[in-house]
Amino acid sequence: MRMSRYLLNTLKEVPREAEILSHQLMLRACMIKKVAAGIYTYMPIGYRVIRKIEAIIREELDREGCIELLMPAVQPAELWQESKRWDFYGKVRFKDRKGADFCMGPTHEEVITDVVRRELKSYRQLPVNLYQIQTKFRDEIRPRYGLMRGREFIMKDAYSFDVNDTASEKSYWAMYHAYARIFHRCGLKFRAVEADSGAIGGSYTHEFHVLADTGEDTVLSCDHCEYTANIEKAECRKPEHVKPDAFFKMEKKETPRKKTVEEVAEFLGVTPDKLIKTMIFSTEDGTSIAVLVRGDHEVNVVKVKNFLGLDALELADEEMIQSATSGPSGFSGPVGLKIRILADLAVKEMVNAVTGANEKDMHWVNVNPERDFKVDEYHDFRLAEKGERCPRCEEGRYEQFKGIEVGQVFRLGKKYSESMNCSFLDENGKEKPAVMGCYGIGVGRTAAAAIEQNNDENGIIWPVNIAPYDVMLLNLDIQDDSVNEAAQELYENLQNAGMEVLYDDRDVRAGFKFKDADLIGLPIQVIVGKRGLKEGLIEVKVRRTQDRVKVSPQKAPARVEALLESLKEQEEQRR
Ligand code: ATP
Ligand code: MG
Repeated sequence: MRMSRYLLNTLKEVPREAEILSHQLMLRACMIKKVAAGIYTYMPIGYRVIRKIEAIIREELDREGCIELLMPAVQPAELWQESKRWDFYGKVRFKDRKGADFCMGPTHEEVITDVVRRELKSYRQLPVNLYQIQTKFRDEIRPRYGLMRGREFIMKDAYSFDVNDTASEKSYWAMYHAYARIFHRCGLKFRAVEADSGAIGGSYTHEFHVLADTGEDTVLSCDHCEYTANIEKAECRKPEHVKPDAFFKMEKKETPRKKTVEEVAEFLGVTPDKLIKTMIFSTEDGTSIAVLVRGDHEVNVVKVKNFLGLDALELADEEMIQSATSGPSGFSGPVGLKIRILADLAVKEMVNAVTGANEKDMHWVNVNPERDFKVDEYHDFRLAEKGERCPRCEEGRYEQFKGIEVGQVFRLGKKYSESMNCSFLDENGKEKPAVMGCYGIGVGRTAAAAIEQNNDENGIIWPVNIAPYDVMLLNLDIQDDSVNEAAQELYENLQNAGMEVLYDDRDVRAGFKFKDADLIGLPIQVIVGKRGLKEGLIEVKVRRTQDRVKVSPQKAPARVEALLESLKEQEEQRR
């Protein structure tokens, strides 16, 4: 492609609306244009990256025997009413001219289940795994970071249907491995992490996270064994039991205006791990529940929700705290408390602890679990932290990363096949619901994540496999016939050798071209100038390493090809 005829205007300034680097660079390199909040046009060069990622996804999924189809973006309400998600799942709804309800599809479990239930008759048709690459619309509360969290975005979504759990598990792991191949081929450093699957029993899920400081998720990973999990899910090691020396007598102490763990600990001259933190939560039906954790720990609300089998759980407001504890917030404690009490396992091991007294400005000291208050259930209810010991092995400790969730694999079980009656006849002629899995990849988010991981102060550094073009050809002296001739010949020869070339034939200063080439970030730059040509040489520059070599124009295509090949190999091996 000749740049003089392309629609590609780069920006020198960093656009103010863009907070993170990938968003800034995508705007500056003219990859995307904003149409409305979270809604973008993929500009020609940006769309090429999208298509490259899509092609890798298609190849790897087709290899697994997945079958591509395309479902509509607009979905009728009836399907969502069948699965009982119409009222519960936030989405953009509208009516047609006859008043029938529709929504923009945020996901396609309902539609695919409807497709398959109409076709599926016998166990002989299973397994089947259907996928599409299609536009989703989710009315995100905070669309931001460009393609990273859009409202309209491109997703690859796949759905597997199997005869039973064992077969479904096989489909799940096949997708897991296909995802790993896809993200390796995209040249990304990533981790597959165990993640929260909500309160549905029997289901489990992995998220694929690209490691980057700007990631919105926190991932904990053992430095010794394989265990890696989203912080929402990460298990805590069972605390060791230490036999206490003595249990002291419980006493009430005045702690004027001391509410936080730090304030109370300092005032009483103890360390925060001597305090029992009592958090009051309220469920959807208005019941209050107390959750106890050690003062230096934090409650993991997701773990509590899953334990209780609830979709929603919120911190109680002041009024609820008053009615549940008869005291103000900041002074809650389990002694004499009449509501259900859940406690983290670490609380069980606490001796002579400090707790709120459910009274303004008062705390108890020398409180001992079981002696002074009863706990209804002990369980792992806290957030794991970096540095603490791994729950799965003896040697390791948790390391912490920030991650961008680019994909997720999920075992759905029979949730949709039962509610929507998607069944088949087994070998004995018995009707059974299909066992399902669902699998998503954010295509635009993957492109953005790739930029977060591959850049320097001058711009993007595309991994070869997803670069919009392989080579940027720079003609530095557009007024010079010999340069024009040599550049034109190179343009043709590079393409004839199978490479994709963006040819900067614009009539602008050389400095300008160098800056744009680095900003756009194609893996290889081929630079043709008057001075070099006099010696029969042109320059080949590797964007990632900045390494430059001089070669003759005749040898350039082979040289560039070899460089691309070795870059590709290194990038696919990144861990
Ligand atoms: P998140 O937790 O980031 O909101 P999600 O877990 O709700 O995402 P899934 O339903 O698992 O998303 O969707 C599959 C994939 O689609 C995600 O792994 C992500 O890569 C992508 N994705 C989800 N929401 C968005 C969005 N708003 N913009 C861009 N990509 C998205
Ligand atoms: Mg997800």
